[in-house]
Amino acid sequence: MLVFKFGGASVKEPEGVKNLVKILEHFEGNNILVVVSAMGKTTNALEEVVKSSFFKKDDLEAKIEVVRKYHADLISGLFKNPEPILHFLDEKINEIRLKIENYIGEKFDEFYDQIVSFGEILSTKIIAYYFEEIGLTHKWLDSRKYIKTDSTFREGKVNWDATKSSIELIDEDFQLYITQGFLGGTSDGKTTTLGREGSDYSASIFAHCLAAESVTIWKDVPGVLSADPRLFENPGKYEQLSYQEAIEMTYYGATVIHPKTIKPLQNSAIPLFVKPFLNPSESGTVVDERPFTQTDLPSIIVKKNQVLISISTLDFSFVTEANISNIFEIIARHNLKCNLSQNSAMSYTVCLDFDNMKFDELKTDLQKRFKILYNTDLELITVRHYQSDTLKNLTKDRKIFVEQLSRNTAQVVVR
Ligand code: ADP
Ligand code: ASP
Ligand code: MG
Repeated sequence: MLVFKFGGASVKEPEGVKNLVKILEHFEGNNILVVVSAMGKTTNALEEVVKSSFFKKDDLEAKIEVVRKYHADLISGLFKNPEPILHFLDEKINEIRLKIENYIGEKFDEFYDQIVSFGEILSTKIIAYYFEEIGLTHKWLDSRKYIKTDSTFREGKVNWDATKSSIELIDEDFQLYITQGFLGGTSDGKTTTLGREGSDYSASIFAHCLAAESVTIWKDVPGVLSADPRLFENPGKYEQLSYQEAIEMTYYGATVIHPKTIKPLQNSAIPLFVKPFLNPSESGTVVDERPFTQTDLPSIIVKKNQVLISISTLDFSFVTEANISNIFEIIARHNLKCNLSQNSAMSYTVCLDFDNMKFDELKTDLQKRFKILYNTDLELITVRHYQSDTLKNLTKDRKIFVEQLSRNTAQVVVR
């Protein structure tokens, strides 16, 4: 079995869906499981629906219409006979409205997952209808029945035993399967999501449980590059990355692969290919067991929208190991991830992704026991395999808040 993951960018227009089919034809003769994200920026649009309905704003219908119209246009451009699919779309949009109307006291994160998950259901159903129209035999799978998670909504933690047992039940009668990225399900049938950009992780979970031959994520870039081409001109391409190098890069924010993707693949020695969806025969980048050798190409990873918090005791005592452990317990309780930390005698500094709502809650909790100072609107720049001038060039004209160097990794927090 080959596992192919197609992200939102690859299926954002009718041409993208047609191109997906071309790629499948290129690999004819293989058994393929296709994992698809929501089309284009649908997840963002559904987040707007969630916010509008949860906070009772009066633009709810307008926000729903954005989602409906985008899919209706795509359907009209894709199908020879779009009517039945447009009807299906209207049914799903009504389902969203019903979920919002019947909402009873779910917490924000739970409500979020019940609504945002429609993005992947819509994309995979639309593509499955397209397979049907062009006569491509396939089976549509509901990933919520296979990827089993706990009820940490918006960041579902995979129950591996239950997930393996469910995925092993998938019959092998079809050459082509299609399922959703990003979605999981709890044991009591609620929808969860695996964290933003989590479709890569879904592909890797399926691959691990199916003992797949490989995973390919089809991208709008030629492979894993030494920097995000949206931020830097002409970054180089890696031909190969070790699992460890890929984890280090993605953990610090190289958004080309979701950081959780690597572990399940490493555990079963399954190679991961990152390839351009516009040139399927190009080599792309392979992530596998071999050691990483392209260390002469430093990778630059920029994580925007960071907050740097300095935490000190209320009574002028030292920041001790006991305090630090308490700080981390609070950060973990809020489901936040510390991107960098540093301590001095009187304060402990952490750099986190900034999320308005989560940050306010964290601040309130920390302030019960500590004094805090913080700066927002910062960037965390990480350079793997840095050379002496890489950092200098990157931080020129910037105000540096924290700088840390280790043998292979340099990190700076700047504004
Ligand atoms: P998908 O739709 O498949 O989820 P994403 O937009 O999330 O795709 O990821 C692809 C984008 O990741 C690229 O267009 C590129 O701008 C960005 N990117 C960030 N870091 C890198 C990197 N190191 N190499 C390649 N692309 C990168
Ligand atoms: N659709 C989800 C998101 O935009 C998951 C993904 O694309 O990987 O975050
Ligand atoms: Mg993505």
